[in-house]
Amino acid sequence: PRRILSGIQPTGSLHLGNFLGAVQKWVELQNSGEDAFYSIADLHAITVPQDPKVLQNGIFEMTASLLACGIDPEKCVLFQQSKVQYHTQLCWVLASLTTMAKLGQQAQLREKRNIIQELSTALYLYPVLQAADILLYKATLVPVGEDQISHLNLASFLAKTFNKRFGNTFPEPQAFINEDSSRRLKSLRNPLSKMSKSDKDPRSRINLFDSPEDILLKCKKAVTDSISAVEYEPEKRPGISNLVVIHSSLTGRPIDTICQEVVGMQSGDYKIAMANEIIEVLRPLRERFNQLINEPAYLENVLKVGALRAEAQAQETWQDVSRKIGIGRNQ
Ligand code: ATP
Ligand code: MG
Repeated sequence: PRRILSGIQPTGSLHLGNFLGAVQKWVELQNSGEDAFYSIADLHAITVPQDPKVLQNGIFEMTASLLACGIDPEKCVLFQQSKVQYHTQLCWVLASLTTMAKLGQQAQLREKRNIIQELSTALYLYPVLQAADILLYKATLVPVGEDQISHLNLASFLAKTFNKRFGNTFPEPQAFINEDSSRRLKSLRNPLSKMSKSDKDPRSRINLFDSPEDILLKCKKAVTDSISAVEYEPEKRPGISNLVVIHSSLTGRPIDTICQEVVGMQSGDYKIAMANEIIEVLRPLRERFNQLINEPAYLENVLKVGALRAEAQAQETWQDVSRKIGIGRNQ
């Protein structure tokens, strides 16, 4: 089996972009017997201001969400990032191997600058911490959405740099991107930007466990152009194309098939029809989530066991790293 690592921030609810871009793949990899580690990236979350109570709840909510999607703690290691101390320790070591100039080029800094005025130092280190997450477990495959490609490039640069300076230690990690057109879902309010948990407008995204009423409303209100035909033309008509992608990805019917089915339908009617279909697909997931969120003791235990299993692996790598760089105990 291959070693897999990926993570998700416990900020807000899981949306269709997270699910189709990443989490669905996580479940597949776990079920095909790969050696998978999935992290709830709370340390990444605090790189922008978070309300402590909301964050605390978010960690439980994300745990329940992932389990509802089919993540199985018997088949993978599901853990809370901050419970394993070696992430921040390795992050510091890796931060010493890169430059501010390199970190200052991240696209996400530009995006966040539109939302918050003062960017924290930790936000610059975001991809370095992500590299630490990956390298700590010597992961070779990192299933993520397309927005993470540049971060993965940094992780592989840091692996190479460390290996060159201190001897072969880390395999080079590779991004594993969902290759179909669902790899980056767009905001329902602005089809030129990506669907995000941190978008201020809740109507910009469909959360996995939204009520049927909310899903219907969000689809009806989705921003599309003034042409009423339903077509898949992502460059020219990003709004309606995004809805077709969502519809196709969730039902498993190819984009072409969907487009043939709806020839002659007006986009307003199409929005209602596709909303009704995705409501049915998401219904069982929402029911599982509602059950799990009422079992805090179970969730607590899942995280406790996960942290112990993750820590065992991480500690091994850290001992090796700290010895190689000259701060560990000689044995
Ligand atoms: P935030 O806005 O707080 O950064 P996010 O929605 O980007 O939240 P993350 O926790 O940063 O969510 O990312 C979790 C995973 O979801 C990552 O692998 C990321 O690539 C993927 N992802 C996020 N948004 C999308 C999207 N719109 N389409 C496809 N994949 C996505
Ligand atoms: Mg993100």
